[in-house]
Amino acid sequence: MNPHAYLKSYRADIFLRCERWSAQTQKSSDYTNQKLKKAIEILDENKMSFASEEDKKEFYQHVDGERDYKVIIQLLEKSLITDIKDCTNNFHSNVLDNTALGILPFGETSAYCSRVTKDYENLDGHIIIISEGLYIGLQLLSKAIVIENLINDLEEYKQSGAEAFEDAIRFYKKPNPEMSSKSEFQNMPADINGEVSAFQSSVAMMIMKFTVLHEFAHAVHGDCDVMNLHQRFMLSKRDSLDLNIKQHHDAEYSADLFALEKINLYTKTDLSAWDNFKTIYLFFHWIHYFEQYTKQFESASHPPPLQRAEKLYNYMLKNYKLDDNAEIGLKWIRNKTEEWYQTKFGEINEN
Ligand SMILES: [Zn+2]
Repeated sequence: MNPHAYLKSYRADIFLRCERWSAQTQKSSDYTNQKLKKAIEILDENKMSFASEEDKKEFYQHVDGERDYKVIIQLLEKSLITDIKDCTNNFHSNVLDNTALGILPFGETSAYCSRVTKDYENLDGHIIIISEGLYIGLQLLSKAIVIENLINDLEEYKQSGAEAFEDAIRFYKKPNPEMSSKSEFQNMPADINGEVSAFQSSVAMMIMKFTVLHEFAHAVHGDCDVMNLHQRFMLSKRDSLDLNIKQHHDAEYSADLFALEKINLYTKTDLSAWDNFKTIYLFFHWIHYFEQYTKQFESASHPPPLQRAEKLYNYMLKNYKLDDNAEIGLKWIRNKTEEWYQTKFGEINEN
């Protein structure tokens, strides 16, 4: 079956199911739409080159309601695909042409790559499915970092990121549309809010891009044949699976590496490569503390998140010169995420 045709029917199916989850609610719609538009603008330096004239018209008009939300989500998919095209080579583009990317409201905060349909029918290529909940979770995570780092003129709006970090962890466990609006910055003048939100979206989009590239790497590496990634083994025990764990872990590490390499492909300085890595490093700490909180694993087929971060860190050390600033930044992330977690979940952890 053609993956693009399958994605189309799968999407329709998800939208029909009454239990579908969506970030789109009456309350959050306008805000979520604005966030997503910003995300596309950040990703797309070529001014919507991937979009048809009709798409563009829809995009730039005032957005409101669920129909527009669907349009924006699909533009975000196209934009991510264009972005991947820009950082991969001809061999990859053959794989990419036979890969369908869907950002769907399926009620988990996860992502996967598969070469079979949900009924295990083979696809003539791959589908990559990203939960739209992941995007909202990333906005919450990003808020924690942004709000704690406001300096100079913005210093008066500076706050602890602990609450946003707590929200991000709870959201990862159970995506809840009501929480979408919690990623908003309260009590800030509109111009400052715009500036801060743009930075927040750029952090979230960097991790979205990393996630999509990671899943795309599974397609490029042919991992889906051996890994049956269609099953996520969500919240199961790592050692309870009858899997070739080492093979799985190696596939995960090389997918991470692929994604990081591509993200840093066009960076001009070592410092900006480390800056990109910092964001990925933060992402793995989020998943780590999510696992601490739930006392379960995010995915049994994946290595522990901090080990994945460590592997990438070693790769970075080999390829980019680590300066004091980057080192301080990474230490800050380690200490801050621990502090936030202790502040909000300390008691739970002691039980
Ligand atoms: Zn993976």
